[in-house]
Amino acid sequence: MRKKIVAGNWKMNKTAEEAVALTSEIVHMIADEVTSDVEVVLCVPSLYLSTLQQYATGRVSIGAQNIHQKASGAYTGEISAPMVKSLNIPYVILGHSERRQYFGETDEILAEKVNIALENGLKPIFCCGESLEQRQNEDYIALVQAQLTNALFHLSAEQFGQIVIAYEPIWAIGTGLTASAQQAQDMHAALRSHIASKYGAEVADNTTIQYGGSVSAANAAELFSSPDVDGGLVGGASLKSRDFVNIVKAI
Ligand code: PEP
Repeated sequence: MRKKIVAGNWKMNKTAEEAVALTSEIVHMIADEVTSDVEVVLCVPSLYLSTLQQYATGRVSIGAQNIHQKASGAYTGEISAPMVKSLNIPYVILGHSERRQYFGETDEILAEKVNIALENGLKPIFCCGESLEQRQNEDYIALVQAQLTNALFHLSAEQFGQIVIAYEPIWAIGTGLTASAQQAQDMHAALRSHIASKYGAEVADNTTIQYGGSVSAANAAELFSSPDVDGGLVGGASLKSRDFVNIVKAI
């Protein structure tokens, strides 16, 4: 059975002190209140990876929000897959729409980032999704499937088994607009069948596909009840321990 994973994406938020407080609150609340076998990942600013890794216990682990596509070198300000791996961090978000939009990350760059992540034993949480304009004017399902084809389908089936997909419609990120449970389910099923067409039904069935886009404690249970929705990637609501833990409990 595929894993259910709820990940928080803190983006560029929290001071060091706040980050420690939020992590320890979440770790304690999850230990006390969550009985399901959901996995919880906190994707934190890179500056805090090392410190927060020491607080992550039980079912909670820490993830990075990005890595560079090269292993090392003259790339001022960047962090590499070997650096993240050297802290025993298991996950890294790749291809978030904010990285694609503000930092020019293309499918080709993302394919390189996926490769270097896997070479270093990191599990990518690979984000994909369409803008509102694309949803209104294009075959948006084919477009999101192509994001997978272009950045991931060069992988072997074994490598693909390390990938977590996060479907994040861009129009729902940080906007308060959420895809309906049916809209999420339709896209997740289309992505799973696309994965099956390349890697076969077993790999597709084992792939965790998260939904992301204004997930809240109020809408999580309905979104997570769809058969192909295997958890969430949560932005804004991951910055408050009570809200985030309630989302985890909704699974
Ligand atoms: C995200 O940034 O991945 C995200 C889903 O943000 P939010 O939950 O705030 O929409």
